[in-house]
Amino acid sequence: MKSTVNPMRPAQRLADAPRCKATAKTTRCRCKGPAVKGWSVCRMHGARGGAPFGPANGRWRHGNRTGEVEAMRRELCELMADARLTAKRSTSVG
Ligand SMILES: [Zn+2]
Repeated sequence: MKSTVNPMRPAQRLADAPRCKATAKTTRCRCKGPAVKGWSVCRMHGARGGAPFGPANGRWRHGNRTGEVEAMRRELCELMADARLTAKRSTSVG
């Protein structure tokens, strides 16, 4: 099987990577940096941005907004909606 990677160009993968779509504020030109995998921008223009998450980075005051509780709340809402629909159907038929 023939490889498409040229061993004489070790940076080929970097050169072939999709380019950053951000415009530089200083030059008003396209960044041209390699975009981070799964993002349309490079590491300097906001890819993987935002606050870190996980148990080590939470502002734990109470447990009311944890992912576990939110999922439970969502499930409960769906059950309530189902119950409401069932009650509505049973009263309208009878
Ligand atoms: Zn960029």
